[in-house]
Amino acid sequence: MYDLKPIPEPHVMSTYGRVPVMLTHGRGCRVWDDQGREYLDALAGIAVNTLGHAHPRLVRALQDQVGQLIHTSNYHHHPYTEPLAAALCERSGLDKVFFCSSGLEANEAALKLARKFGHDKGIARPEIVVYERAFHGRSLATLSATGNPKVQAGFEPLVEGFIRVPANDLDALHRATNGNPNVVAVFFEAIQGEGGVHPLQPDYIAGVRALCDQRDWLLMIDEVQCGMGRTGRWFAHQWANIRPDVMPLAKGLGSGVPVGAVVAGPRAAQIFQPGNHGTTFGGNPLAMRAGLETIRIMEDEGLLDNAARQGQHLLTQLWAELHAVPGVREVRGKGLMIGIELDRPCGDLVLRCARAGLLISVTADRVVRLVPPLILTRAEADEIIAKLVPQVRTFLDETSA
Ligand SMILES: *Cc1c(COP(=O)(O)O)cnc(C)c1O
Repeated sequence: MYDLKPIPEPHVMSTYGRVPVMLTHGRGCRVWDDQGREYLDALAGIAVNTLGHAHPRLVRALQDQVGQLIHTSNYHHHPYTEPLAAALCERSGLDKVFFCSSGLEANEAALKLARKFGHDKGIARPEIVVYERAFHGRSLATLSATGNPKVQAGFEPLVEGFIRVPANDLDALHRATNGNPNVVAVFFEAIQGEGGVHPLQPDYIAGVRALCDQRDWLLMIDEVQCGMGRTGRWFAHQWANIRPDVMPLAKGLGSGVPVGAVVAGPRAAQIFQPGNHGTTFGGNPLAMRAGLETIRIMEDEGLLDNAARQGQHLLTQLWAELHAVPGVREVRGKGLMIGIELDRPCGDLVLRCARAGLLISVTADRVVRLVPPLILTRAEADEIIAKLVPQVRTFLDETSA
């Protein structure tokens, strides 16, 4: 076990409870700290490093791009914007893309799209359906859409115009919206990530799609965390065989370079006109090159299939090893997005695992979350299990009354 000591950062705002590890470099699914200690990375920068660390092809493409242009304004064209937009449209079956730099920014754009969709129809006070346990970001609008009181506390007044419903309950959605002429959109994550890795059922997603068609609402699916191949399809909603009208992306899209996108289908692709929306960094040459090269490498290396295969292996093996352990409630997820729910708060496992050379996170207080790079090998998947299971067992033993 590594002996980890606190690292002071007196000039950095304390918005995070950081693990006392100073990471300096990485390769594949491994990272190292300034003491030379090695960690297996089952967190991937929170579902960001699709290709792991220092992927040679991505490094070459980014080095080349840094030597040409890092940033230009959106007042001009450059060579990778349209190809990346086309690549996302082709893989989603949607029509047009707006580029930005983060998840909340993509969601903020989606919320603005929904409101303008309403205003264009003559609805002066549009309302958007959102979900319990949802997470959509930390801006005022996206934290208002988020279904976690802890994210909202201290930042009231919240942005208005949201109706909240529970997931996977079509009747509840009907009840919450019946007779309300101001509803313009339904907005959810295909798999709720920060909320504890709760998948929405494909039947439910298809049911909401049908309702949106019937009522002329936009179906907006936040794929910021579960998209970009993580579940074994390009986008997690594709398991329900439907298309959304609006799909925010970010996290895994640039494999570590900040890039976000809102992909829109025919009903939403024409809503924004020049002057309606914008962002300085969005769609810059470095970000576009990162996104495009990430997609190419994912296809050349068969990473969607790999995510599905290794994910299934992890799910099966973790369940086999943990289902009989008192305190373990459930192992769930899809592809390389896996949650292990315990019966008690388990934030302490993050530090315990780091001491054992494994990077993970805990979300929604009680859920161990695994979102490793999509290049994970079978041997690395087995290593995650071998490192994690004893920590979970010991933790449960030591915290049992
Ligand atoms: C992480 C996340 C966001 C916010 O993304 P940021 O880049 O941190 O702003 C939004 N939605 C979902 C589903 C996320 O997982």
